[in-house]
Amino acid sequence: MLVNRLISTLLLLLLAVAAQSVCAEQASVRGARVWTDPAKTRLVFETSSAITHRIFPLDEPDRLVIDLDDARMESNLPKVDLGDAVLVGLRGGVRGGSHLRIVLDLKQPVRAKSFALSPNERYGHRLVIDLTPKDGSGVRRVALPSFPNSSLSKGVAGKGAGRGSAVVVAIDAGHGGEDPGAIGAGGTKEKDVTLAIARELAKLIEREPGLEALMIRDGDYYVGLQQRIDMARERRADLFVSIHADAFASANAKGSSVYTLSYSGASSEAAKWLASRENSADLIGGVDLSTNDDLLATVLMDMTQNATIEHSTEAAAMVLANLGRLGVVHRNDVQRAGFAVLKAPDVPSILVETAFISNSEEEKRLRDRGHQRQLAVAILDGVKGYFSKFPPRGVLVDTSPRSGGSGGGGAREYVIGPGDTLSGIAKQHSVSISALRAHNGLNDDMIRVGQVLSIPGDS
Ligand SMILES: [Zn+2]
Repeated sequence: MLVNRLISTLLLLLLAVAAQSVCAEQASVRGARVWTDPAKTRLVFETSSAITHRIFPLDEPDRLVIDLDDARMESNLPKVDLGDAVLVGLRGGVRGGSHLRIVLDLKQPVRAKSFALSPNERYGHRLVIDLTPKDGSGVRRVALPSFPNSSLSKGVAGKGAGRGSAVVVAIDAGHGGEDPGAIGAGGTKEKDVTLAIARELAKLIEREPGLEALMIRDGDYYVGLQQRIDMARERRADLFVSIHADAFASANAKGSSVYTLSYSGASSEAAKWLASRENSADLIGGVDLSTNDDLLATVLMDMTQNATIEHSTEAAAMVLANLGRLGVVHRNDVQRAGFAVLKAPDVPSILVETAFISNSEEEKRLRDRGHQRQLAVAILDGVKGYFSKFPPRGVLVDTSPRSGGSGGGGAREYVIGPGDTLSGIAKQHSVSISALRAHNGLNDDMIRVGQVLSIPGDS
């Protein structure tokens, strides 16, 4: 009896030891990636289990050391973009027999912030390290469209005059960086398609007098959903257009759809499903939730937001109608669901599903430059339609016929906003008050909000 008990105790002990050695098995780094964006450089290590690490700097020359405890490298270290603001390259080696040391060669001293991400449907455990220049340069730099001279000589609305005279359209290319979005059977990644269409759209918008494009991301990196909203609000965007090309369970699903935010349930099960998928982008793209302190999700639904949603619906309907002219639309009316990225309380926001990347025909077309452009043109026409119906306050609208060729001098219009005075408007447009009065048949200096003034042409 005693022997038996002794043996079973021994067995238990052995099992415990075995279990412990399984737990303590060395972690492996299965993937390492670098993403360069205008504000920071992001390193991602994908590991077989959660990993402990230490980071410390060395100088002369500037380096950053990342020690990963009890880990081994199972993948190659990534190459670094030549244009990266802080990184020259990465090298790695074994330290103390079973630990891993990765050394980053730097162009300048950096500030490093690291956080862990738990596994999800796409990735295992990840350790994320964000690097920003220590002197603060490059931090919070706003992404601008990637074509030079875009802000010069834009005709009648005079973009050179700065914000206040142009309508700003925030263009949000869905996904990016760690988050590829949906992937088609042919390997096409949603993040690449959305960026290509976004760039086409930005190009078209910059050519329109009175319109200005704000690219929320303009490269292959991830921007958190909340940050996308913040960027649009910071630049006082007049409309936010998020571009996607998602997958659906059925490979037969096809066509475009346009969505707006709903707080009170989705317009269909499919819309609900799609919104929850889109909202999980932060988990895949990588957002440090510990610093997410001002979530707009808590913003009270007030009158402003009601008006914003009404405007969003108008804009969505215009865009949908124009996409319809291009070809098949998945749904004939504007869809609604709880998309986190559409939650700006004061910026009308729409989400355009350009096509289903899960449909092989549409996947092929989404890769096509010409088709990307056609989609961008359709979105642009919708956006213009919306702004001609609802001009933002204090904005010049070009009403000259597009192909008139009358040699310029088209009428300019100004929508009166709160606080505007006739003398202020006259001054702003370098015309005399009397000319402004005469031009608009005004007997005195009384103006009201929402009234549209015609500005006499320069002479
Ligand atoms: Zn998407």
